[in-house]
Amino acid sequence: MDSPTSQPRPAKTALSRVEHLPEPLRRGGALQAAAAEQFALKIPAEFASLINWENSEDPLLRQVLPSAQEAAPGGGTDPVGELSSRVAGGLVHKYGHRALLIASSACDIHCRYCFRRHFPYEQAPPSAGRWAEVASYLNQHPEVSELILSGGDPLTLSTRRLSSLTDSLTSVRHLRRLRIHSRTPLVRPQRVDEPLLQWLATLPWPVVLVLHCNHPGELGSGAAQALAELRRLGLTLLNQSVLLKGVNDCEQTLAELSETLFDQGVLPYYLHQMDPVQGASHFAVADQRARALVNALRNRLPGYLVPRLVSDPPASESKKILA
Ligand code: SF4
Repeated sequence: MDSPTSQPRPAKTALSRVEHLPEPLRRGGALQAAAAEQFALKIPAEFASLINWENSEDPLLRQVLPSAQEAAPGGGTDPVGELSSRVAGGLVHKYGHRALLIASSACDIHCRYCFRRHFPYEQAPPSAGRWAEVASYLNQHPEVSELILSGGDPLTLSTRRLSSLTDSLTSVRHLRRLRIHSRTPLVRPQRVDEPLLQWLATLPWPVVLVLHCNHPGELGSGAAQALAELRRLGLTLLNQSVLLKGVNDCEQTLAELSETLFDQGVLPYYLHQMDPVQGASHFAVADQRARALVNALRNRLPGYLVPRLVSDPPASESKKILA
């Protein structure tokens, strides 16, 4: 199915192509069709196999199914204020010591609450031709000690393109860490193949892989295998989740998520208050409720399994810790 930057297919076609979708959801309505036209439906096979298609409120299905509720007012198209921090070659330099590279405009899955669902990728399409520009900018900014590969999802790039990117970064002598933000090992675990593992194993920097998992039901057998391979390389594996109404706004679900992640060698890192993006206000959880959930987790889990509750205000120099 489509990447965020390609022309959306007619929504009816997109919805009707989801073979398991129950008839009432497949038919949808005009507002649901409009939502799918604005941000195309995309569900990879492994993730689809974990959905309970008989339950229209399934927490995995809810994350990916276009909804009429997306037409509700509220939210913006640049909710964390990234557009004014774009500098060179797809780099976003919002925080002093870290820079973020929009390495790819594509994702393996389209999450309806995505804070970059309106990101104008077409204005500066990520491409191999721009890696030299990225290295040049970083070389002029010795304060940047960590580069974050993001997107889209950087692991949608071929391993050859990833290698070409990291080859061009070796000239940046002050870079101390490479961080990769990715949902791919969970939603399309077969991407964690031998060439990718070899690329990761030979990188000259310590690598921190920050996964994005919101619900324990997303951690199927394919993901477990992919995570075991990544663990063997000695990468630091962290997870960030987004707190989403009707998906994981429940103490039991969040506790089980932390336990299941740890079983697979991943530490819960951040629980994000959802960025106020246009089209996703139906997922929002009030700050007071979010804090109560995290405090409840503190009472039942060891501290290292309690993610930090954070938000990412537009003009801030760092994330804001809420609990
Ligand atoms: S994988 Fe990440 S970047 Fe891609 S749609 Fe989901 S939340 Fe957005």
